[in-house]
Amino acid sequence: MNGYDGLRVTVAGLGVSGISTARALARLGARVTVVDGGDGERQRARAAELAGEGIEVVLGGGETLHGNTELVVTSPGWRPDSPLFTAAAAINVEVVGDVEIAWRLRGETGPPWLAVTGTNGKTTTVRMLAAILEAAGLRTAAVGNIGTPIIDAVLADPPYDVLAVELSSYQLHWAPSVRPHSGAVLNVAPDHLDWHGSMKAYAAAKGRVYEGNRVACVYNAADQATEQLVTRADVAEGCRAIGFTLGPPGLSELGVVDGVLADRAFVADRRSRAQELATVADVNPPAPHNIANALAAAALARAYGVPPGAVRDGLRGFSPDPHRIEHVADVAGVAYVDDSKATNTHATEASLAAYPSIVWIAGGLAKGATFDDLVRGAAARLRGAVLIGADRHLIAEALARHAPDVPVVDLERTDTGAMAAAVTEATRLAHPGDTILMAPACASMDMFTNYNERGDAFAAAVHGLADGPAHTEQ
Ligand code: ADP
Repeated sequence: MNGYDGLRVTVAGLGVSGISTARALARLGARVTVVDGGDGERQRARAAELAGEGIEVVLGGGETLHGNTELVVTSPGWRPDSPLFTAAAAINVEVVGDVEIAWRLRGETGPPWLAVTGTNGKTTTVRMLAAILEAAGLRTAAVGNIGTPIIDAVLADPPYDVLAVELSSYQLHWAPSVRPHSGAVLNVAPDHLDWHGSMKAYAAAKGRVYEGNRVACVYNAADQATEQLVTRADVAEGCRAIGFTLGPPGLSELGVVDGVLADRAFVADRRSRAQELATVADVNPPAPHNIANALAAAALARAYGVPPGAVRDGLRGFSPDPHRIEHVADVAGVAYVDDSKATNTHATEASLAAYPSIVWIAGGLAKGATFDDLVRGAAARLRGAVLIGADRHLIAEALARHAPDVPVVDLERTDTGAMAAAVTEATRLAHPGDTILMAPACASMDMFTNYNERGDAFAAAVHGLADGPAHTEQ
């Protein structure tokens, strides 16, 4: 007998996590209805498949609560003020996310969670962490906001030894009882404020990754907000606060000394010495923000007891996912770099800091962000800017205020050829030795399906430059 037998559950969203949730709960005897606003061919095919398993699917709706629902399970991305959730709240029906269900099913009894959140670097850090855990011979997976749905991961047979869990602020918001073995907040910068309502609510959601931690709360010594979240968390007796820094590590920190990633947190004689884990050259790419990611991953792995050699081997074997500061080509002495995953100003700030002279391609959906600080910080390195997308005027205004001498091309087009036009304009502005950096600081959905498609469009445009591939050198 389990708490789900006969329970009437509505699952919001027919995506990967919604399907995984629906199947898992139906298997436990719940009476599951999945609702989704879409009604396309793909949704219908999925609906037919689930119907065969006794799961009801309602397409083209999802606004109203379905017959006597006792529990609503959301998918990431549904806004907290969606009518479905308002309707549930009005009649005291609980709303949780798939991460919460995973925890309730097998959180205390299943593999420990090493959890990562933050505005930027989550996916990279979680993948690095999984690589390190694997190098230590552990059975693990990168789950949560990426890869395998988390419910499938906690129920896997044979079970995993330990999970590297990426948790977005949305997922944390809807997961009140999750208690990771150890957690890390990489950084907190304004993002998704339209969803959370305020910076305070956004930060508080991120801070939930520390709740109930047993061994280590890992924070970024260069980002006070992350440390403050540790002090506010209710953790298990004996749990330690562990900082990571790009400078030499203080006591109970991981840091960098003479090109070496050094641990002064998980060594017995840490008062007098640091333990070498890896070198900066083992991190790919060795950009400052990525070294920070590697240190955070190492801290979580060390908190779980992984030996230093596995940290080194895991990092050496790791390569980042596409569209994250990805070098596409050099054409006529100009480097073309795709950082389409830079969907907010904080990520873009990291990549603008990595190059001395840049033609910047930016714009898209701003999600409530402002661009003054970003432009002010980067102005001296900008050769020019090419703006695309719905909210480009916000960036144009910031450029006019803080970088009035930087030439700006404002592309009004939002059709599929717009990226090629942007690349052509950027090429016109660039001098040999410059970097053309597509790091839009905005979401892509005004012009593209997602950031992958935006990055692919950029790469295709670069390869299509009139004198492109023939002059390409790596
Ligand atoms: P997330 O999963 O949090 O979105 P990713 O690892 O996919 O993070 O990286 C997202 C973007 O943020 C990329 O553009 C990347 O270059 C940038 N980035 C990665 N790590 C950091 C960091 N520690 N600080 C700032 N920006 C980062």
